[in-house]
Amino acid sequence: MTDLPARRLLLVHAHPDDESINNGATMAKYAAEGAQVTLVTCTLGEEGEVIPPDLAHLAPDREDRLGPHRVGELADAMRELGVRDHRFLGGPGRFRDSGMMGLPQNHREGAFWHTPVDDAAPYLVEVIRAVRPQVLVTYDPNGGYGHPDHIQAHRVAMRAAELAAERAFRRDLGPEHDIAKIYWNRVPRSVAEEGFARLKAAGADFPGIGEISDVPGVVDDREITTEIDGTPYAGRKAAAMRAHVTQIAVDGPFFALSNDLGQPIFTTEYYQLVKGVSGAPEGEREHDLFAGVTA
Ligand SMILES: [Zn+2]
Repeated sequence: MTDLPARRLLLVHAHPDDESINNGATMAKYAAEGAQVTLVTCTLGEEGEVIPPDLAHLAPDREDRLGPHRVGELADAMRELGVRDHRFLGGPGRFRDSGMMGLPQNHREGAFWHTPVDDAAPYLVEVIRAVRPQVLVTYDPNGGYGHPDHIQAHRVAMRAAELAAERAFRRDLGPEHDIAKIYWNRVPRSVAEEGFARLKAAGADFPGIGEISDVPGVVDDREITTEIDGTPYAGRKAAAMRAHVTQIAVDGPFFALSNDLGQPIFTTEYYQLVKGVSGAPEGEREHDLFAGVTA
């Protein structure tokens, strides 16, 4: 284990594109600084809607080839961020995108939402015990905004973190490892409000403008424990988002998903520490996910 980089960050996401939208600047920063950045994506995003008309044939109700296509988009995005270690939970295609909450796809055999948490978690335990991250980033219990795969990604990530630390659990998956710090993705309400005000003032080229409720993980500012200034990596984050061609349209500092509603791109990324000790002085925010962590 001595050949691992000193700082190791693991991110768990539901679909290709979530990592770039939520954590693109953070991932680029730590990769550039020589930290090990490992992304685990839980599904291929097979049920996504396709934005460009010339790729509409990939959709699940037509050729159903969106999953493999998005594997390529994710690889392109990771190249933009300088992240070399990206994996799919249990291997590509092990768990299928469950679609939006309430759709029949939620209960399909093999759908991520349909899979018991304890069936999926061991695949992540294996990654945790091999990579031995000090920091884990995932969603809050509502998955940020209620998508079944995001809720399930939260559950699997939290459960796997617990199981990975239990010495007696599945010793065939490697020696136990306790992750020092766990964070949930957040956006402070004031930042979301300011972002939409900026978007309205600029009048970006989208048919409509989204609302704060469209942004995952918005909470009161006082819940935020940590902010990562991604300004030097804003270009890389936008390029990574643009690489998800079927899912995201980027216009300057703004973007839209398939609903065509403009949203601000946040280049400072925010987190809530939910396990471990803050490395910042009392009452202040951390500016480094590894603050206080000893290698
Ligand atoms: Zn997603």
